[in-house]
Formats: sequence, C-alpha cells, structure tokens
Amino acid sequence: MNAKILETENVTVSFDGFKALNQLNFSMDAGELRVVIGPNGAGKTTFLDVITGKVQPTVGRVLFKGKNLRSLPEYKIARLGIGRKFQTPRIYLNLTPRENLEITSNQNKNVFSTLFKSSTNLEKNNIKGLLETIGLTPKADITAGLLSHGEKQRLEIGMLVAQSPDLLLVDEPVAGLTDEETYNIGELLLTLAQSHSILVIEHDMEFVRQIARKVTVLHEGSVLCEGDFEEVQNDSRVVEVYLGKQED
Ligand code: ADP
Ligand code: MG
Repeated sequence: MNAKILETENVTVSFDGFKALNQLNFSMDAGELRVVIGPNGAGKTTFLDVITGKVQPTVGRVLFKGKNLRSLPEYKIARLGIGRKFQTPRIYLNLTPRENLEITSNQNKNVFSTLFKSSTNLEKNNIKGLLETIGLTPKADITAGLLSHGEKQRLEIGMLVAQSPDLLLVDEPVAGLTDEETYNIGELLLTLAQSHSILVIEHDMEFVRQIARKVTVLHEGSVLCEGDFEEVQNDSRVVEVYLGKQED
C-alpha cells in the first residue's frame, strides 16, 4: 500500500457560522494524480486554502505525509513541500521564460543574486529539460509578457515544478483557455504525474475526462462521492448536484 501524502480528518471551516467545509474526510496516496470537482461554492478553493495554511480548520486536522499542519504559517507549509498554482498566472512578465525558471529554481530565492550569478551546469540542464517539458523551448528567450494565456499557464506550472514540491496543488488551470491550450495543459499534467503527486481542482468536464484517474466530487463542503471518471459521471447524485446545474 502506498503512503498517504495528504489526509484531512473531519475538517470543518466556518465563516461566521457558514460551513465552507463540513467534516471533510479526504486522502490521497503519494504519486497519485487526483482531480477534485464540484459546483461553484462547493468548497474547492477553501479546500486548497486549508491545505496551504491560508485558512485554519475550525475543527479537524490536515496531515501532509503524516505531519499535522495545524498552526503552521503558509511559508513553512510551502517549505515542507506543498506548491500551489493559483488560477491567474503569477509570472515575471518582463523576464523571459528561461529567467523565470532560473529565479524560482534557485535555492536562495534572491532575484538579484540569481540574475547576476552564472547558473551551474546542473541548473542549466534542469531548466533546459523543464523548458522542453512545458513546451516553451522555442520561446525560452522572448519576454514572457508576449506569451499566450495558455503558455503563461504552462510557464507557471514549470515554475511550480522548479521548486521541487512533493505535492502540486493546481486550481482550475484551464479556465479561459482554448480547446487546444486546454489539451496541452492536460498532457503536461499527465507527464508531470509520472514523477509528482498532483491535486487538480477543476470545473471543465472534458478536461477532467482527459486527465482523470480517481475523481473526488465535493458538494456543500463534504465528499459526495469518489471513483473513476465513468463512475462519477454516472452517479445520479453527481448528475443532480453538479452536472445538472453547471453554470460556467
Ligand atoms: P468553490 O471554489 O468550490 O467555488 P469556495 O471554496 O470558494 O468554493 O467557497 C465555498 C463557500 O464558502 C462559498 O459559499 C463562499 O461564498 C464561502 N466562502 C469562501 N471564502 C469565504 C470567506 N473568506 N468568508 C466567507 N465566506 C466564504
Ligand atoms: Mg474556487
């Protein structure tokens, strides 16, 4: 049996009495690619917030590799090996993709020392490989501001990987992307899943079909059901609460 990389036990998050998460029990194995879906307001983003320490559970606990994350500040949780990709890309638009990756992959995270110090061969090889993985080799040395939205998303996923997290959290990576760009992101996540544990929050069902292994459906802050894509898609409760009222 695989070790659990992430577990939540009875996690409740109350905002003024409203339970955004309600006794949420969830676990995923190390090495797994898990997709979490659910209608708007189901608690998906709050779920990521409570893992990364942005929000504290009112009740219950979150375990990362068996370690209780309670009361740890966000930066310490990040250092333990949890990386998060937000919905909107957060990249340096006036630097090139290569420079963006150099900055994030550098251990001492200082922009100036990174820019003025020459990279080691190992770093250069890693960055070359990463540019290849995210499909940006031909655009490695143009200003990142000139990249398409999908390319920016791929660059930010690359920056996340450059930090070598053990668990990647990815919030709605294909919102607002064309079909082709959506497909590219899906293939990239499948490639990364060969060597990383990844938790993807998603709304787009076609995309979920492309990448899904095990799917967890959230509804009103709790797990409604879990299974492979077919099982979840055919579950009448899911059809009712999620597919039946998909607004966007
Ligand atoms: P999802 O990402 O699935 O759309 P969210 O986790 O963003 O859902 O939100 C779940 C519910 O919690 C929503 O009803 C939202 O309005 C509420 N909520 C989220 N964050 C806060 C907050 N900081 N204060 C009050 N209510 C919040
Ligand atoms: Mg959300």
